[in-house]
Amino acid sequence: MKTCSRRNLFRLAGAGSLALLLPAMTRMSAGTAWAEDERLDPDGAQAKALGYVHHYSDVDQSRWPRYEEGQICANCQLAQGDLSAEWFGCSIFPGKQVANEGWCNAWVERQG
Ligand code: SF4
Repeated sequence: MKTCSRRNLFRLAGAGSLALLLPAMTRMSAGTAWAEDERLDPDGAQAKALGYVHHYSDVDQSRWPRYEEGQICANCQLAQGDLSAEWFGCSIFPGKQVANEGWCNAWVERQG
């Protein structure tokens, strides 16, 4: 019967941790990761729940009174990646890209 020494156990744990961390670390290299994400579908359940639209001019202001002129994804604190691009990431919708001139009800003024 094969025994598992403490040293081997640590090696296995280290390899397992690396395997778990690697996808996350890859994801953090924003430039390329965001480029691979698919665009957020405004008709998806979460997008609809937050009133997301690809263009601010499509905001239904009777339904989303929080919207104010000038609010777009590109000046939202929750946007991630290259905000001068047409599409980039958003922490509310992981794995998806949102439009530069999009908007949703979670909009927060970007600081700095
Ligand atoms: S949270 Fe901000 S960046 Fe994300 S979709 Fe809403 S307005 Fe756009």
